Amino acid sequence: NQMNAEEYVRDIYDKVLERNPHESEFNQAVKEIFDSLVPVFAKEPKYIEHNILEQIVEPERVISFRVPWVDDNGKIQVNRGYRVQFNSALGPYKGGIRFHPSVNLSIIKFLGFEQIFKNSLTGQPIGGGKGGADFDPKGKSDGEIMRFTQSFMTELWRHIGPDVDVPAGDIGVGAREIGYMFGQYKRLRGAYEAGVITGKNPMVGGSIGRKEATGYGLVYFVNEMLKDHGLSLEGQKVIVSGSGNVSTYAMEKAIQLGATVVACSDSDGYVYDENGIDVETVKELKEKGNERISEYVNRHPSATYHEGCTGIWTIPCDIAFPCATQNEIDEEAAKTLVENGVKAVGEGANMPSTLEAIDLFVESDVHYAPAKAANAGGVAVSSFEMSQNSMRLSWTFEEVDEKLQETMKNIYTSCVEAANEYGDPDNLVLGANIAGFVKVADAMIAQGVI
Ligand code: GLU
Repeated sequence: NQMNAEEYVRDIYDKVLERNPHESEFNQAVKEIFDSLVPVFAKEPKYIEHNILEQIVEPERVISFRVPWVDDNGKIQVNRGYRVQFNSALGPYKGGIRFHPSVNLSIIKFLGFEQIFKNSLTGQPIGGGKGGADFDPKGKSDGEIMRFTQSFMTELWRHIGPDVDVPAGDIGVGAREIGYMFGQYKRLRGAYEAGVITGKNPMVGGSIGRKEATGYGLVYFVNEMLKDHGLSLEGQKVIVSGSGNVSTYAMEKAIQLGATVVACSDSDGYVYDENGIDVETVKELKEKGNERISEYVNRHPSATYHEGCTGIWTIPCDIAFPCATQNEIDEEAAKTLVENGVKAVGEGANMPSTLEAIDLFVESDVHYAPAKAANAGGVAVSSFEMSQNSMRLSWTFEEVDEKLQETMKNIYTSCVEAANEYGDPDNLVLGANIAGFVKVADAMIAQGVI
């Protein structure tokens, strides 16, 4: 059985490489999951009989479209938009939209693929999807953002709906962009279907606590993991890369739980202050001001600014929270972190560690919380937003936060249980991938060849 399973996984992985030869990020995400699943296939031949792997790696639908828009100089610009509707076994497609110049099909597919298992782990009835555009919001005016976002939705709206596909934000897409997208959808659809998109401003049907959810949830998850090993966040020296939505609220919660955050970053560089980063300043710069993190040192002279964003991982710390973007921790950065005595790594970004970096963390004594489990709090609260929209009511912050904490605890428990069942107790990579996969695979089988 073991040999059979290995052969099956290798066979399908070869097919993936053959079908998608230029999709390095997607192939990376597939490889990580496939490697974890060998023991499952060895134990449960039904998944091989149903050829689940070959089905699950092929998106149910890929939509790619032109996004034309007029810039402030009256010039017509064109970007490429995507929506990958990856898997609807557990519910309507659910996943964010990313606006970043690096966006291509490989990146949207890796994100959509991860989303399937992440969403499954939340226990909510949501499938997996992802979208985006190779649009660079940096330096664009509010008018340009609005016109681009409306044009994006002018194509996307026909493919989505509260029971079909429910987008949300990701890098470059926050409450403002969500608001413009919702407004445009409403116009074209001719109905106020609040549940078509999540991450809305609470003023237009958004969930209170959604903004904080990914970052808070990450820290709740890591806190559970630390508790399990007799540790806590109290007095720990923490690094949180990024300074966007995930990073900001991870910092805020880590500080609330007694940690000192000594560094954060943006795509240009990082700031370091051994006495602790002031989150309110980061919010003022990034949430309200649209400024660079280098500005931070002008308000806090005790902090220093350093060009380049990988250098942040050379700072000795107890806990690292990569919350910026994919592959921000490579093998070398991981080595440096381990040599400097990092005790835990909690992933807020999607796939922030390369395969080599993950192996290093898992082989060393580092408590490693993989993204699809640790950052699932965001999409979990997105699902709560869908529930509230359906019920036409809104929960208080306390209600949402309590449900979020419960969700992160449950995710941690299911990861540990799956890891235990497959004989590698502290390996949460294995646990997350298996626990996420099994529910989706069983739902696919139950629905016939779909
Ligand atoms: N983009 C977020 C993620 O990576 C949130 C998705 C959502 O809320 O639908 O999970």
